[in-house]
Amino acid sequence: MSSVAVPLQCVTARVPAKVNLELMVGPLRPDGFHHLATVFQAVGLHDDVSVEPAEEWGITINGPYAHLVPADGSNLAMRAARLLAGEAGIDVPVHITIDKDIPVAAGMAGGSADAAGALLACDGLWGVWSSKTALEELAAQLGSDVPFALLGGTAMGSGRGDQLAPVLGRGRYTWVFALSDVGLSTPEVYAECDRLRPSRRVPEPTPSAAMMTALRSGDAVSLGRALSNDLQPAALSLQPRLEEVLRTGMDNGALGGIVSGSGPTVAFLVDDTERSLDLAVALTASGVAPAVKRAVGPVRGARIITAASGPRGSFGSTGHETGHAGPAGLRSS
Ligand code: ATP
Repeated sequence: MSSVAVPLQCVTARVPAKVNLELMVGPLRPDGFHHLATVFQAVGLHDDVSVEPAEEWGITINGPYAHLVPADGSNLAMRAARLLAGEAGIDVPVHITIDKDIPVAAGMAGGSADAAGALLACDGLWGVWSSKTALEELAAQLGSDVPFALLGGTAMGSGRGDQLAPVLGRGRYTWVFALSDVGLSTPEVYAECDRLRPSRRVPEPTPSAAMMTALRSGDAVSLGRALSNDLQPAALSLQPRLEEVLRTGMDNGALGGIVSGSGPTVAFLVDDTERSLDLAVALTASGVAPAVKRAVGPVRGARIITAASGPRGSFGSTGHETGHAGPAGLRSS
């Protein structure tokens, strides 16, 4: 019996948010980026990026953060799709739909995640089947955090954060994210970091032994103590209210607390799901955080979850989830 290949009409990729367990910011490089040494962890908050062939390029964003995200060619997902089309010589426009659950301008790399999702989904839709290395190279052209959104798990990042080495750590960690209603711009936080410290005296960044030991042991208490972020003073300087968020979290049972990336989200590590619920309630009830999300990490990077021969939302899916994220991410509260 012969089988007939049915062209795909819609491919959806699921992509995780990240938290930086350690973020060391070195001197400014001639290209305007900083030398970084960072340890990323992918956490179970996800965006779903769907692509389908269309008459012209377009993008729709769904979810509570839609109004904060550009729905035009400047969207990182659109830039990613066009970059791959250019590289692969594809002349088929797509409509991109992002179901967005990763908070925007929150230091959780949501835009980077969408770019990684669009690369992977378009690669599947168009049947390009790029090598892992080729996709990583395109990802690095789009932004420093995009390669990690493809990789997921826990990884060390050097260079400007885009040169990755997976960290073979143990443990599954429970996180509580205190969101802010005011975003922080990543370039502004780096500029504030430079302003707060004289760059001539900034050493080359290297990952700390304490972080590596904690990850190898899988001990959440040690990891909580090892969390560190060189951008935190700058984020606190621009948004002093974050001090109170950090204090409230630590006073309510967190093992560690840190500004996530360039902020303003504050990430708290807790013992288990029950503690995460208690802390979520404490943070919202005290009024220091307008919203809270909970998630576990590490989870895997971008993956195809559906590949269908009909349009988005219709029946007739020919594919199904091609991977598994491990234990389900905790829901937002
Ligand atoms: P970083 O990766 O620098 O840590 P972030 O996580 O703080 O970034 P993002 O959610 O990626 O922040 O959004 C930063 C800005 O990027 C937003 O203000 C928005 O205008 C723009 N942007 C472009 N495309 C997207 C996208 N697909 N999703 C979210 N933001 C996007």
